[in-house]
Amino acid sequence: MATSTEATPYTIVIGLEVHVQLLTETKLFCGCRNRFGDPPNTNVCPICLGMPGVLPVMNQKAFQLALRAAVALNCQIARFTKWDRKNYYYPDLPKNYQISQYDLPFSHDGYLEIPTADGGTKRVGIIRVHLEEDAGKLLHAERGGKSQVDLNRAGTPLLEIVTKPDMNSPAEARTFLEELRLLLRYLEVSDCNMQEGSLRCDANINLHVQHNGQTVATPIVEVKNMNSFKAVEAAMAYEARRQYEEWLRTGAKLGEVPKETRGWDENRAVTVSQRRKEEASDYRYFPEPDLVPVVVSEQMLQEVRSQIGEFPAQRRLRLAAEYGIPEYDARVIVELGKAFADYFEQFARGLENPKNASNWMLQDVQRTLNAKGWTIEQFPVRPEKLADLVSRIERREINTHAAREVFAEMIESGRDPGAIIAERGLTMVSDEQQLKAIVDQVLDENPKVLEDFKKKKGKKRKQVAGFVRGLIMRQTKGRADAALVERLVNEALVARTGVPLE
Ligand SMILES: [Zn+2]
Repeated sequence: MATSTEATPYTIVIGLEVHVQLLTETKLFCGCRNRFGDPPNTNVCPICLGMPGVLPVMNQKAFQLALRAAVALNCQIARFTKWDRKNYYYPDLPKNYQISQYDLPFSHDGYLEIPTADGGTKRVGIIRVHLEEDAGKLLHAERGGKSQVDLNRAGTPLLEIVTKPDMNSPAEARTFLEELRLLLRYLEVSDCNMQEGSLRCDANINLHVQHNGQTVATPIVEVKNMNSFKAVEAAMAYEARRQYEEWLRTGAKLGEVPKETRGWDENRAVTVSQRRKEEASDYRYFPEPDLVPVVVSEQMLQEVRSQIGEFPAQRRLRLAAEYGIPEYDARVIVELGKAFADYFEQFARGLENPKNASNWMLQDVQRTLNAKGWTIEQFPVRPEKLADLVSRIERREINTHAAREVFAEMIESGRDPGAIIAERGLTMVSDEQQLKAIVDQVLDENPKVLEDFKKKKGKKRKQVAGFVRGLIMRQTKGRADAALVERLVNEALVARTGVPLE
């Protein structure tokens, strides 16, 4: 696949290593609460503090969520899987080892299909998905140079997802992450909130350079410290350029350069060399003696499979097909989350034309959610009530203008649209004789309008008709049937002035 528009003689090769925190009540090997934002060191016990003599016990729910993610990522599930100790020293790791999975991860060899720019899909291979415990967090003082340790996160369940180096552009890496996040949120495996650190991502990147008819690979660089999907894309673009320039300068000596870890510096928009990349042997992995291996039964797998609902990619297709809405609408609705899409479906079922539901969801409802800072779960109007309102537009009982007024009150008071319409007298005026009389009255009272209509031409003349429609709407307090008003106004103007509409 071509990677650059300037016909650069190289292909970018990117693999990702993604860590996501699982949505469990408790930690992976103890009963402490797994919750973000609590006061430091309040969710800790002898087990997650790494006291001597304690024994870990595996959290079944965490393993189930991990299985759910791996099955959804089309992975092979190992029937026998074990735990290993990964040994290293760091102040946020009180045991001096992390319980992880090394040679027998619970799943391997899967893939995730991601959308491509040309409207197709591409498979990104998954090498392995394994479960491990998270470390604590260091809180660095802004001044004074002191750091403190918060161990609330120590021992919380973490899923590590390692992809094959199948992504060939910074944009593809970003798309993969977006698609993965959407999937894991749909599965309710993780909230994937990058700000809170529940999704973290490192990337391995190098170039395959065409040189004298041969393909030469530049050394793989691991890039860390990317705190947003945008940062991943920017860091990959920077790193590809940097590696190519480096290759032009020192190409001949490439083979001798060791693997390197670089950190993304968001402010300077550059990657900075950190240290030599560790090899697996540096961690002295060995089997965890305090935990029994896990045997995954057919029954366990069946149960997990039955918990998996529809995937986002399938739902996009189904919404477009089943409701006849544009693919664009279906995509945006699905991307706004499972609850948003659920709301849409309940709403759309109550309408004659589901396109009205997607219009309302993506305009009025979205605007309200953004303005109030609500999620769709917090939105006070239930989908059946909103369908009740919008179906009244479809039945020509009220017009869109009045419906917006009713909508605003429904949000405030939660009352039924029928009651609000009756109380405020918002029923649509669609009696032709009644409206015709109002049109005549307005034109009688505004003779200048007729002069203008005659004098002006084209678009300007049409604007005069628009002005008259506004007067009618004001007269009827916004309740008139807009399409009928338009026809009656046009007919009256043409009849009275003897000039055509344009
Ligand atoms: Zn604990």
